[in-house]
Amino acid sequence: EQQGTNNFLRTIIADDLENGRVSDIVTRFPPEPNGYLHIGHAKSISVNFGLAEEFGGRCNLRFDDTNPEKESQEFIDSIQEDVRWLGFAWDGEVRFASSYFQQLYDWAVYLVEQGLAYVDDLSPEEAREYRGTLTEPGKNSPYRDRSVEENITLLTFMKAGEFEEGSRVLRAKIDMASPNMNLRDPILYRIRKVAHHQTGTDWVIYPTYDFAHGQEDAIEGITHSICTLEFEDHRPLYDWFIENLPVHSRPRQYEFGRLNTSYTVTSKRKLKQLVDDAVVSGWDDPRMPTIAGMRRRGFTPTALRHFCDMVGTTRSDGVVDVAMLEHAIRDDLNANAPRGMCVLNPLKVVLTDFAEDQLEVVTAPAHPSREDLGERQLPVTRELYIDADDFRESANKKYKRLVLGKRVRLRNAYVIEADEVIKNAQGEVIEVHAHTVPNTIGNDPEDGVKPKGVIQWVSASKGRQATVRLYDRLFDHEAPDKGDHDFMAHINPESLTVIQQAWIEPALAQAAPEDNFQFEREGYFVADRFDHSSEAPVFNKTIGLRDTWAQ
Ligand code: ATP
Ligand code: MG
Ligand code: MG
Repeated sequence: EQQGTNNFLRTIIADDLENGRVSDIVTRFPPEPNGYLHIGHAKSISVNFGLAEEFGGRCNLRFDDTNPEKESQEFIDSIQEDVRWLGFAWDGEVRFASSYFQQLYDWAVYLVEQGLAYVDDLSPEEAREYRGTLTEPGKNSPYRDRSVEENITLLTFMKAGEFEEGSRVLRAKIDMASPNMNLRDPILYRIRKVAHHQTGTDWVIYPTYDFAHGQEDAIEGITHSICTLEFEDHRPLYDWFIENLPVHSRPRQYEFGRLNTSYTVTSKRKLKQLVDDAVVSGWDDPRMPTIAGMRRRGFTPTALRHFCDMVGTTRSDGVVDVAMLEHAIRDDLNANAPRGMCVLNPLKVVLTDFAEDQLEVVTAPAHPSREDLGERQLPVTRELYIDADDFRESANKKYKRLVLGKRVRLRNAYVIEADEVIKNAQGEVIEVHAHTVPNTIGNDPEDGVKPKGVIQWVSASKGRQATVRLYDRLFDHEAPDKGDHDFMAHINPESLTVIQQAWIEPALAQAAPEDNFQFEREGYFVADRFDHSSEAPVFNKTIGLRDTWAQ
C-alpha cells in the first residue's frame, strides 16, 4: 500500500538507498507497554511499518520496557493484537528492550572505562540545582572526577543492590555547560528496586530511555529510527552514544510531528485516568481513541490506515479535525458495509389488509452497488415497526414520512397509506393502522399518487429485538486538554445512550461479532466484538451518515 505523497521520510529513505548509505531498510515501532495504543500510535505504526513495506525492508516490534512499574503483560498482549489488526506484520519475534539489559550494562561499564561515565552521589534536588537552566550553564558535580576504579566499584555495587533507591545514579560525562540540556551529563542508570515483568528481580538498576533507545536500535540494525518531535533535542545525545560505543551498526534518528485529533486526548496517562475513574468501561470502550476502542466502535483497519496516509507525515505537530477521521471511516463503510434495517424508537404499524398469519418475503440487495455482497430476505407481516419519528398525525409539506391519510414507501417493500391511529390514555399514538397500496413492490402506485418518502421498517413477528448503543464524542470540547482546561471537566455527559429494545431485520441477528453495517437512514453500526450474539444481538453505532468534513 502506497503512503500519501506528503511524507518527507520517504525522500530521506529513497536518497539513503540511492547513495548507498544503507542497502536494506530496517525500522522499528517501539511502544512502552504502559497502556493501550491510541490513534497517534496508529500513525507511528503506519509510518514505520508502511515505509518498511514500501521499500522492501523490515520493521521490528520492540517493547521499550525500561520502566517496570507501569508496564504489564496485558499491555504487551493488546499492543501486539492492535498492530496485527491494523494489518501489519513485524519481522521475526517481538523484541524487548529488557532482553538487551546485559549488553547495555556492559556498554555502561565500557563508558566508565573510557572515562566517559561516572557514578554520582548528588541527591535529586542537588542534581537539579547543578544542572543549571536554559540561560545558565550547569556546574560539575563534585563526584565527576572519580577514578575509573572507584566508578567501576560503585557501579558494581549499584547493580548488586547495595545502595538505596535515589542515592546514586550513573551519568555520562559530556558537558555541563552545553546549551542542550540533554548533554549536561545525562543519567544512564537509576536504582529501582522493583520486579520487572520480563526479567523478574535480576536487575535493580534500569537504563534511561536515552541510554537504551539508540543502543537497542544499533543492536537490531535499525537504519531509520523514527520518533516524534519531542525527541529532536535528544538526537545529539543519541548520536553521542552511537559514536562513543563499540556498536556494530549506525542507526540514525528522524523525527516527525505527533498526530492528535480534535475532541480527544491521546496521552496514555489521561486515557488511563478515564479507565481508572470508570468514565469509560475500559481501554477498549468504543468512545476511547485507543485502537482497541476504535475497533470496538466499528472503525476498520483500512479506514485508519487511509486516514494516517491522508494526514501526511511532516515535521510539525498539529491537531487534525476529527471530522477527517470520521470521513475516512464513512468512506470505507459506505463502499463496503452491507445495508440493514433497524428501528430505534419503535411504533407499531398494523397492515389491516394483511391476514394475521400472512407472510410475504421480499428480497433486497445487501448493498446498492455491490452485487458481490448478495441479497437479504425481508419478511412482510401484518404487524411492523417503524420509527416513531417517521409518523405524524398531521404535518406540513416538508415532512416526507408517514402522515395520517397519506402515503410512504416502506424501504424495499410496499407503499402504505395510514388510515387510523390508536392512542393510549395520555393521548400518545401507540399504533397506526394502515393498508398497503396494491402492486407497489418495485412499482409506483397505479393511481399516480406517489409517496414522498421512504422509511425503514421491521416485521414485528419476524424481526428481532436488539440492544443498540449510540455513541457520541467523549469530550464536548475540541481541545479538552489544552491550556488551562482540566480534561475531565469536558466529558460529554451524553456520550452514550443505550437503547434496549430496538428492532432489527431478522438477518441482522446472524451477524458475526465485528460485522459492519449501514442501518439505512440511521448510520453505520457494528455488531459488538464481545457482547453480540444471535440470541442477544448488540450493535454499536460507529458513526452517523452525514459527513461534516469540508474537503
Ligand atoms: P504517551 O505520551 O501517550 O505515553 P508515548 O510517546 O510515551 O505516548 P510510546 O509507547 O513511547 O508512547 O510510543 C511508541 C511510539 O509511538 C513512539 O515512537 C512515539 O513517538 C510514537 N507516538 C506516540 N504518540 C504519538 C502520536 N500522538 N503521534 C505519532 N506518534 C506517536
Ligand atoms: Mg515513549
Ligand atoms: Mg509515555
